[in-house]
Amino acid sequence: MQISLNTQILMGALSGVGLGILFMQLGPEAELSKQGLYICGLVGTLFIDMLKMVLAPLVFTSIVVGVCNLRLHSQMHKVWVTTLAFFTLSMAIAIALGLGASNLFEPGKGVHLDLFNHANQNFSAKQLTFPEFIAEFMHGLFLNPFAALVQGNVLAIVVFALMLGVAIVTGGERYRNIQMLMQEGLELMLRMVGWIMRLSPYGIMALLAKLLATQSLTLLTSLIKFIAVILGTTLLHGFVLLPLLLFLFTAISPLRFFKGAREALLTAFATSSSSATLPVTLRCTEQHLHVSPSIAGFVIPLGATVNMDGTALYEASAALFVANLAGIDLNLTQQLIVFFTTMIAAIGAPGIPSAGMVTMIMVLQSVGLPTEAIAILLPIDRILDTVRTMVNVEGDMIGSLVVQKWVEERD
Ligand code: ASP
Repeated sequence: MQISLNTQILMGALSGVGLGILFMQLGPEAELSKQGLYICGLVGTLFIDMLKMVLAPLVFTSIVVGVCNLRLHSQMHKVWVTTLAFFTLSMAIAIALGLGASNLFEPGKGVHLDLFNHANQNFSAKQLTFPEFIAEFMHGLFLNPFAALVQGNVLAIVVFALMLGVAIVTGGERYRNIQMLMQEGLELMLRMVGWIMRLSPYGIMALLAKLLATQSLTLLTSLIKFIAVILGTTLLHGFVLLPLLLFLFTAISPLRFFKGAREALLTAFATSSSSATLPVTLRCTEQHLHVSPSIAGFVIPLGATVNMDGTALYEASAALFVANLAGIDLNLTQQLIVFFTTMIAAIGAPGIPSAGMVTMIMVLQSVGLPTEAIAILLPIDRILDTVRTMVNVEGDMIGSLVVQKWVEERD
């Protein structure tokens, strides 16, 4: 009998908890604990290293392919400008909601984890004023792409990938081979991420065992609050704010939208992958929601790669949650940094299960938060990924309806 990855991850997480409790009972001095914790440390670190390993090429190919999906449309300029404007707007609302709710409910506050002690020590050196941040941000945008890839500088990779994508698209047939190469490169990266995800039950087990054996048990209580905040805000965005945007821009009733979109939303929920859902999303958008193929054919595949409201909301909230756990107060400037990096991280995340976890590392790094926090976020990610992927896909479909309305109206 084949056990699904979801179940395996759950089993890994439970075994990790069991092992952690065992090590805790034995005490840190016991030989078994020492050896066990050494192995767990090694396996856990290797797992995070693997996620970091694929980050740069994954983001690069995923963005180039997204831009290449700009098929020739008679109103191409209008289509892509409106599309990007809508994607930016809806993701900005999602991030603002995530940051707002996390500031309000403060999940993780008051829980102190030893895991993050060194983060506190390193933190003061990372604080920048807003003008300094803007200068540094602009300065980091344009880099030699090879240097960016070598350094794993995601922002510079994104900028180069966007420009390369535009160059390929405007070059038309001539660069067809490069486009195919990028597409295949992306598929290869996705294949590797698939392998890494197969190892995730072990990685999670190791990370959790180490975490539990060396940390306090109050973590779980904070996680429950965090899960509630994430689910609540993601559902609010998906069932209230996005339908409201749809209604404001197109006067289409939310009920009609959900009826047409149901199939794709359920598929997204079940697969936790916008990419896997793409064929269903396209069919629903064209056949049930009556968006023309030339618009849906561009907005939907691009959206599946770059437009991720659920992911954006999640990553912003999770960064604040990690800061709370680490006992770090992020000021307004730092929250703005989180805002922008989250936007880029969500754009850079491909539409596959737990992709947000990979780009989450970049958000954490942007304000000097400990990347080890992935150990806390991963075990609960499968639950949260369902709803956030659903909202990701919903945002793409609503985007295509808004773009269609705008392009039609201006014709
Ligand atoms: N699973 C999400 C998607 O496919 C991406 C993520 O992990 O946030 O849309």
